[in-house]
Amino acid sequence: VLVHLAILVHVAHWKMTGSTLTPVEPSEAMQTLELGYVNAGFLLFALAILATLILGRFFCGWACHVVAYQDLCAWLLARVGLRPRPVRSRLLVFVPLGAALYMFVWPQVARVLEGRAFPGLELHLSTEELWATFPGPWVAALTFLVDGFLVVWLLGAKGFCTYGCPYGAVFGLAERAAPGRIRVTDGCEGCGHCTATCTSNVEVHAEVAKYGQVVDPGCMKCMDCVSVCPKGALFFGFRPAHTRERKRAPVRRPRREYDFTWTEELGMAATFSVALYGFRGLYDLVPFLLALGLSVLTALAVVTGWRLIRSRDFSLQHHVLRQGGALTAPGATAALSCLAALALVADSAVVQRSDRLGSQLLDEAGWLPRGQREDLLERSLAHLLRAEAFGLVPVAELEFKIASILREHGETDEAIARMRRAIELRPDHLVARLALADVLMVSGDEPGAERALEELLAIDPEYEQALARKRGLEAQRARQP
Ligand code: SF4
Ligand code: SF4
Repeated sequence: VLVHLAILVHVAHWKMTGSTLTPVEPSEAMQTLELGYVNAGFLLFALAILATLILGRFFCGWACHVVAYQDLCAWLLARVGLRPRPVRSRLLVFVPLGAALYMFVWPQVARVLEGRAFPGLELHLSTEELWATFPGPWVAALTFLVDGFLVVWLLGAKGFCTYGCPYGAVFGLAERAAPGRIRVTDGCEGCGHCTATCTSNVEVHAEVAKYGQVVDPGCMKCMDCVSVCPKGALFFGFRPAHTRERKRAPVRRPRREYDFTWTEELGMAATFSVALYGFRGLYDLVPFLLALGLSVLTALAVVTGWRLIRSRDFSLQHHVLRQGGALTAPGATAALSCLAALALVADSAVVQRSDRLGSQLLDEAGWLPRGQREDLLERSLAHLLRAEAFGLVPVAELEFKIASILREHGETDEAIARMRRAIELRPDHLVARLALADVLMVSGDEPGAERALEELLAIDPEYEQALARKRGLEAQRARQP
């Protein structure tokens, strides 16, 4: 609650003064690594990692707004009698680590490979554009619905932490070195209440029996197990992280149970990869964390669909989907949802593949002299038109790219119409506004071109190319008799 209040105060401060502290959000550390900006998000992330190295994942358990949101979703589900149990997968648990490497390590590797130097550090603690790196309200709401509600319902109360959160992967690595642990006294009787209470998928009773402490890096130090233990045998305390002595023999650590066979795991991993390719950046709308959540859920949908076909009796969480070989009503809904998810992934993958191929060819054509581009432009147009045909929503950038090719082909009217549509979809698309002014000028509509330039300059009064073109138009008019 306090973290959410702090977020509200931050936004209110920005609205009232027009300038405020840069977003206090770990993803902002990407700017530090890429541009050298030392911002509030980077400082928070660095401090949280340092604290985790000593105390363990208290930050996750007590200060992460997404954990709070997942807790809220779990609480709401409990109100309607649904208590999701944690789903255990061997392969999907690597998603957060892969996402962290992709966000924080891969850009550095790419920089070294491209021979670019690190720009040097610079303090960036205030901004006038607090929301610049966040999605709009609809996409934000969808992200919370998917990464919060759906993931919690289908994968367990800490589903996003376990299967999606890239920062959690970093904290999980730091947690391994932390001396701060949930420890046990000799009072433990092995009843397992602690494990039943833990929403982070930790087998508390088995770990404390074997090691005298919780060693699972998924432990977020929420202290639920401590408060529920009927013997008061658990407590938070320090001990060297490498100490993993066997406490006593009677309770044997059971083999970790997984919910999927290896064939299902491999099918899920393959589905996840295709889905992430399709969803990431889809329609210039879907942010990375939403794409991760959607992809993990699609992977689960594939296994669910598979079991719905093959199993005589099958339940997902607490819902009976198939009984005695017959689909139940929830089972029929689940089957339709799985089909819809697969259709969406297939469609999204075609859109992304076509868009990327078309854009790549368009870029290549830009390096060639006129007269040698035709073949590349033709192929690019075919790919981009396919992306448009399969797309479910219009995309400003796609409209603009198609318009640019049509302009080269001399189809001026269609190019102008598409550029106008691109601007309608994204009024801040300044390059499209400039291109529209150019094409209007070439087609002889000087007043229209001037209007387009004025509208552009109203958004950015210092846009040099627009100023130059406006000066050119004025000079031309002055020369006319
Ligand atoms: S730590 Fe407490 S809750 Fe957990 S197994 Fe031991 S007695 Fe039971
Ligand atoms: S219930 Fe215990 S083991 Fe589970 S996350 Fe909370 S503190 Fe860690």
